[in-house]
Amino acid sequence: MRPREAGANVGSGIMPSQAAITARRPPLITYTAGQTMVGLVASQPAPTRVLILGAGFAGLTAAKTLAAGTGRDVEITVVDRRNHHLFQPLLYQVATAGLSPADISMPIRSILERYANVSVRLGEARRIDTAAREVVTTTGTLPYDYLIVACGATHSYFGNDAWEVHAPGLKTLEQATEIRRRVLTAFERAELEPDRDKRRELLTFVVVGGGPTGVELAGALGELSRHTLVRDFRRIDPSATRVILIEGGERILSSFDPELSSAAARTLERLGVTLWTSTRVTHIDEHGVRAGDEFVRAATVLWAAGVHASSLGTSLTGSLDGAGRVPVTAELCLADHREVFVIGDQARFEISGVPAPGLAPVAIQQGRAAARNILADLRNHGREPFVYFDKGSMATIGRAFAVVESHNVRMAGFVAWLAWCFVHILYLVGFRNRMLVFTQWIWSYVRYRRGARLITTPQWRLSDPPASRPSATPARDDADRVAP
Ligand SMILES: Cc1cc2nc3c(=O)[nH]c(=O)nc-3n(C[C@H](O)[C@H](O)[C@H](O)COP(=O)(O)OP(=O)(O)OC[C@H]3O[C@@H](n4cnc5c(N)ncnc54)[C@H](O)[C@@H]3O)c2cc1C
Repeated sequence: MRPREAGANVGSGIMPSQAAITARRPPLITYTAGQTMVGLVASQPAPTRVLILGAGFAGLTAAKTLAAGTGRDVEITVVDRRNHHLFQPLLYQVATAGLSPADISMPIRSILERYANVSVRLGEARRIDTAAREVVTTTGTLPYDYLIVACGATHSYFGNDAWEVHAPGLKTLEQATEIRRRVLTAFERAELEPDRDKRRELLTFVVVGGGPTGVELAGALGELSRHTLVRDFRRIDPSATRVILIEGGERILSSFDPELSSAAARTLERLGVTLWTSTRVTHIDEHGVRAGDEFVRAATVLWAAGVHASSLGTSLTGSLDGAGRVPVTAELCLADHREVFVIGDQARFEISGVPAPGLAPVAIQQGRAAARNILADLRNHGREPFVYFDKGSMATIGRAFAVVESHNVRMAGFVAWLAWCFVHILYLVGFRNRMLVFTQWIWSYVRYRRGARLITTPQWRLSDPPASRPSATPARDDADRVAP
């Protein structure tokens, strides 16, 4: 491998030449010989610096692929604003108390610990300067020779950002535990509420968006209220809970075959979920949702309707698409900066004129492809265009039903659910997590239990401020230590 010859291969005057990069960087090792101070400078090529922003499916796969194909001649730095990688497909289970946060996440450092040339930095990327080849983060400015941008997507409220506070979306562990808090607190408050109308409002849950996330959330809420919580409360009947799933299009799971989406709709209705299709949400506040001509009073509203790519893309181009994605070439890089790759949910990669879907397999395959193209540069080989291998889609409803569509295979029901379980266990990072999730699924399948029914809040201090408590006076030991 010849790391510093990368620039020569990339050509078109965009990548720096080997000489230019080496000249820019200080020598790595300086030897001095005895008292005479004769300096011998062993000039060896500086390592190629690959900076990866985001340790989601795309960024992590890129880091592992690159690290596996390189040695100390390539320095890989992974920056993420969280210290953990998150398996988003199972977030809805944390939000509905089926799994705990640590079951579906893992420290990024642990995942990458065995790769000696990878370092991990906690920090949020704020701005990319493609001319200077550096990224400004909250924990420092980082130079790069190659940059991989994989910061994913967040929610879009279609210009109604004020709705977010009343209708959280599901993208992070913090959001999942907040949703869990709201859902479980609504049942607790309903148990104590004497007024019938207020009780009804507390026991009404609205999910906006009938894609896979909305369907999975609504199904899990139906199951939680009808099967898990029925034994826990004395004054309310949780099975009288209303779960309303609102979808703007004509049917839920519109990316699936119509027969599968009808089967999913029937299963949701059996779990007590009411479907409102072809219905647009026009207002959300603390009392509920206006949908079509009706205002539904609901204490808990959840948002699963739209996504928007990370705003970091604005540093890269002025021509983002409507969902904030960065258009990339067939090699997954920017047309005018071939050393900058954008992958995963943040990239707009077109397949026959249609953007690739925001799915984990797309992100994983793009992570691998971007890394291989950097390796190709380093080895003076030609880059390969990205080809997506579509493995199909799946969504689950409740504890024993799923729909699976893969090429010519279409399945709905228990066997599809087993396939769903298998695939999700397989992709989950970490052996411990796989075992934990597997045993909890078996347990909840047999017993209908949801063991993570914890109400936690961001408030960590005891309710009395320390100053008002007698213990605010320093204890004897502490008092002794105050003055030097
Ligand atoms: C609730 C939910 C359910 C889903 N279910 C499925 C499913 O069943 N099947 C499926 O295939 N796909 C599913 N998806 C989609 C899938 O999770 C995404 O397509 C995939 O995560 C995209 O990977 P990514 O690496 O592009 O982004 P992400 O996985 O989102 O990773 C982005 C990373 O970048 C970090 N980051 C963001 N901004 C910054 C910044 N400025 N600086 C530093 N770090 C930053 C984040 O912390 C994160 O670690 C689901 C998504 C959600 C939200």
